[in-house]
Amino acid sequence: MSKLRLLPVRLRPEPGEHFSAYLLRLAVANGRSSVKELFSTLRIGGSKAQNHQSPDTQAALAGWLGLSPAELSCYVVRDEILAKVTAHDSSRIYRNLELRVPRICTACLRKKKRMPAYFGQLPFTHCYEHRHELIHACPHCNDQFEWSEELFECRCPSCKADLKASTRPVQLPAYASDLRSRLSDSNVLNHFIRDLLLALQCILVPLSTDLSARERPPTEIAPWPQLLDQAYTLLNESTAMQSWAETCRVHRSPTAVIGAFAVYLPIYALVEKLALPWPFRDLNWLSGRQSVKESAAENATSLALVDHRLLSQVLGCQPTEILPLIESSALRGLSGHRSIRDTRFDLVTLAKQVEQLETVVSGQVIDMVHAARIASAHGGHMGHVLAGILLKEIPFRPNSDRKALLDGAFVGVDSLLAWMAKHLASLEAAHCTLLETIAITGMNKQEITTACSLGLIKPLGWKRELCFQGGEISRLLSSHISIKRWSKMSGVPARRPLASLTESCFEAAIAGVLYKRTEELDSWLNSFASR
Ligand SMILES: [Zn+2]
Ligand SMILES: [Zn+2]
Repeated sequence: MSKLRLLPVRLRPEPGEHFSAYLLRLAVANGRSSVKELFSTLRIGGSKAQNHQSPDTQAALAGWLGLSPAELSCYVVRDEILAKVTAHDSSRIYRNLELRVPRICTACLRKKKRMPAYFGQLPFTHCYEHRHELIHACPHCNDQFEWSEELFECRCPSCKADLKASTRPVQLPAYASDLRSRLSDSNVLNHFIRDLLLALQCILVPLSTDLSARERPPTEIAPWPQLLDQAYTLLNESTAMQSWAETCRVHRSPTAVIGAFAVYLPIYALVEKLALPWPFRDLNWLSGRQSVKESAAENATSLALVDHRLLSQVLGCQPTEILPLIESSALRGLSGHRSIRDTRFDLVTLAKQVEQLETVVSGQVIDMVHAARIASAHGGHMGHVLAGILLKEIPFRPNSDRKALLDGAFVGVDSLLAWMAKHLASLEAAHCTLLETIAITGMNKQEITTACSLGLIKPLGWKRELCFQGGEISRLLSSHISIKRWSKMSGVPARRPLASLTESCFEAAIAGVLYKRTEELDSWLNSFASR
């Protein structure tokens, strides 16, 4: 490694300064005209150059300043307004409120050549000192600003127009005043921001399927003051929000397609909210702390919050299997969470729920391994079994000296079959991949292809990969019996019935694999299971 070089002029960030504005000062001091140019000199590229505030970027920069990354981050002190705003809040629509485009108050620039950090935060659309609306584009040429030296001179980086008179003092819009009036209480402030952004989401992209964009605001140069104003109005109309929450709940497909990474915002956040006095809540579920307003008595019933990983250990399933528990409402995930990974669960409530489970007294029981096989033959997994157990749909006999809930436990097979059949039916409109189809039918790829060519099951498409609609699989399984599926569910090796099946008179669709479902065949097969 070559010896680390240093920038000739090594300015330090000022307390409360917008980090990108600091970078711009640093660039100008070192003879560069923009942050972009500074980064290219320092060979900071890619996503680091895009995201000025990321720890990676700061670490890369620290070396050039002769500082350790930790030393540099000590200099980055949030201004008093942002000190109370949670930097990353997973219960928000947008985790990150930071905008990458410069927004300026010309009065601030003219007087102090300064940009406070809060100018870069989505909900803060006005300068609280001058009551100016922050601008992100030139009123003359309409070009969006860049982090370029002209900004410090109040000139447009593109057309060089003088911007000194560009922002007129305005009456602060209601949301901006509300935001300011809440600055003293971080809890209330953060809830206000969250509520405001939830309402904003309702205006912007209700039911959007583009979930990857959730981390950051959809477009950083949207007319935020107008949009936030609309959101604020909506926030105070609980019926509008309520009907939106309903719509979200009905249209689950955007979350269903991404499986375990399902994004539950805004559905759960809204549902949570709607159960409580609208529009503000004082209880911060996410941090697991009760707000100071809660009385000591209420604190006594405090929550034992765990994440999905810990919860899966307690229950004895895989972390990814927690998802059906929330989907079926067998468990409540606390907080309006962004994804299953951010959800918190209350162990105290769960313990009570487990206590109330009835133990199996009659009927045939099977162990959990067998239960998992049955779940898989219905397009589900252990999580679905667990959901049935916790909802008391499936009789359950836990093992008395268990480490996890499912350790050495037994479940009632009839109820399990009925419960899982419901799950398979719920997949009617779902797209099942080839692997899922193999798991459900027990047939291999070649056998499935044969069934397709015989017209027994219609694939959704051949183009990329073979896949099927859930309903199509259900129909095949109701008209036919797959011997390997039967074997998987009954626990009887397939070779046993197959030995005599070939000589039998049962009608085969695919010999040795798929037979026409008749009552006679059903009971004939069942006789193997009871032996
Ligand atoms: Zn100002
Ligand atoms: Zn311009």
